[in-house]
Amino acid sequence: MIQRLQNAGGDPAAHAEAGAASAATYASGNPLIESGPLPAFNAVRPEHIEPAVRHVLAEQRAALERAERVAAPGLEWLRDVERINTEIHRVWGPVTHLNSVLSSPALRDAFNRCLPLITEFGTALGQNENLYRSYGALRDSITERQQVEAQLIDLALRDFRLGGVALVGEQRQRFRDVWQKLAALQAAFEQNLMDATDAFQHQTQDRAELEGLPEIVLERAKALATERGAEGWVLRLDAPTYQAVLSHAESAKLRETFYVAWVTRASDQGPHAGRSDNGPLIDEILALRHEAAQLVGFKTYAELSLATKMADSPELVIDFLHDLARRSRPVAAAELQMLADYAGRTLEPWDVAFYSERLRQERLQLAEEELRPYFPLPRVLAGLFDLVGDLFDLVVAEASPPSVWHPTVKYYELARRDGTPVGSFYVDLFARPNKRGGAWMDSCVSRSRIGGERQTPVAHLVCNFNPPVGETPSLLTHSEAVTLFHEFGHALHHLLTEVDYPSIAGVNGVAWDAVELPSQFMENFVWRPEVLGAIARHYQTGEPLPSDKLDTMKRSRTFLAGLGMVRQLEFALFDFRLHHEYAPEKGARVHEILAEVRQEVSVVPVASYNRFPNTFAHVFGGGYAAGYYSYKWAEVLAADAFAAFEESGVFDRDTAERFRRAILSVGGSRNALDAFIDFRGRPPQLDALLRQSGIALPTSPQ
Ligand SMILES: [Zn+2]
Repeated sequence: MIQRLQNAGGDPAAHAEAGAASAATYASGNPLIESGPLPAFNAVRPEHIEPAVRHVLAEQRAALERAERVAAPGLEWLRDVERINTEIHRVWGPVTHLNSVLSSPALRDAFNRCLPLITEFGTALGQNENLYRSYGALRDSITERQQVEAQLIDLALRDFRLGGVALVGEQRQRFRDVWQKLAALQAAFEQNLMDATDAFQHQTQDRAELEGLPEIVLERAKALATERGAEGWVLRLDAPTYQAVLSHAESAKLRETFYVAWVTRASDQGPHAGRSDNGPLIDEILALRHEAAQLVGFKTYAELSLATKMADSPELVIDFLHDLARRSRPVAAAELQMLADYAGRTLEPWDVAFYSERLRQERLQLAEEELRPYFPLPRVLAGLFDLVGDLFDLVVAEASPPSVWHPTVKYYELARRDGTPVGSFYVDLFARPNKRGGAWMDSCVSRSRIGGERQTPVAHLVCNFNPPVGETPSLLTHSEAVTLFHEFGHALHHLLTEVDYPSIAGVNGVAWDAVELPSQFMENFVWRPEVLGAIARHYQTGEPLPSDKLDTMKRSRTFLAGLGMVRQLEFALFDFRLHHEYAPEKGARVHEILAEVRQEVSVVPVASYNRFPNTFAHVFGGGYAAGYYSYKWAEVLAADAFAAFEESGVFDRDTAERFRRAILSVGGSRNALDAFIDFRGRPPQLDALLRQSGIALPTSPQ
């Protein structure tokens, strides 16, 4: 409310305010518009959404026009422009949140109707040449001491450039066409893959053929057969079924059938060869990405991808992957040999998952479900809050909830020990109908300073755990406890920020390959005996987790970790080299590069008809192009950062304070590598991750 009435002094376009005021009258009584500092979640009805969105967009369009007319932009102008997105988020944030946690057909309809309006406004903002020029002009007047502002403007200018704003004439049009074509090709890639996956099914009336498959898979297969009026069982090729067959089916023949179908999807091979073939699309996608990158001044698409990431050169990424591969491959090869010895024969490609699973069961005998009684949610949550309180000298206290969307939602305030408020967060932890699956942290309100008033940040922490039943609390598996800590790591990043510009506060504006650092960092605590001693106690007897269970749990973290590592490295190196080495005269060289990468990295057998690239949707369907490496990159950062705590004691306050100051507080206001070096005193190193995964260090340092 304060934000909307706030008017920049000396505004040359005061008449636009009058328009906004009349729109406000029309919007009266709409809780999305007339809320206080926090959204009025329980008052929002689907019919409020579209009027509120149209209202806020009209208001912000006027604000944007005012900003475009400012002749000499200063810091006040910068804050005004920042406020445009904040204001839109104030309306649209609660809508997207409710659509995820309490959806209904009417809400979804309203959401889908408004999404294009929001997207269109965002695109127009990102393509606005006047704004681009104003940012440029403002950059020239920024002094060396205004580092935060400098970084904010640099990031904005970067995004304008990556969006093609600086292009003129034909090039500009071509750039737009290329992206449009790419969007269509990437969607077609996904569609082909879906069609190819759906095209396959395996029907059998022989129960013996399905020996070993989990009951739930068999039930699904039986139901599917009945649905289709067929006898016996029908298995589809969706990922859970495929993984179940490869890991559990006793019949090598069945595993082979599924392997062949899976690795030849959307290709020129296998049972549906030539149908929905993604091969030609891959070539086209790579060519267009290369062209787009060159249009905005990069040598390759890999360079364009790195423009928004922490890794600052392709060579650095390639060296990073090579280095990890060199150190992991011998371990992976030994693990594969161990599996072959266990199987008593040479392994075919469709045997590896099967014998891995058998060996896992034999060696570990660990059923995740057995651990649930030791992880009652209230204790885990209290332990998490105590840990965070101790580390960062904070107090977490449940507060009487403002408006919430469901009675099980809780609200907490985070303050310094002297009572200074830091932020607050909503916690919505239980699965229920009409709630999206998975777990996530989202920004409800970003930290900002509008006029003299500081708005503290507010986060959403959402999971999908089993709800409590009667007197029995919600009981977590260990990996669910890990998930909770992970999401809380994101929340800390959002809440402990000290940046007052929303676009670079908290997780906003943080390099893409560094944003998982705080979350993966927090996961490590759930593996430490010091922490488990506090959070893992039987919900009825209070008895701590037995030491043999603790031991098996630890071993499960490193079990066959080498094989897992080289598999991820193969994907990452293939993706990155493909985008970095693309040259129009040579073409995409998809199969050559993959063969070279496998030669170097991989240890498991691969069939010659395997067409893995045709199914690599992460990279050819969208977001992870020349960015798949960032999964491993973030793991390295997190493990290395946590190692600093291992060195000085996991509860060490000084280390935690340095981590808070260097990493958690700076948001996107600082280069991520500089921030890391500030914390660790050196660039990131691989050793901690290799130790954590149980991958031994090589004896010679070459
Ligand atoms: Zn995450």
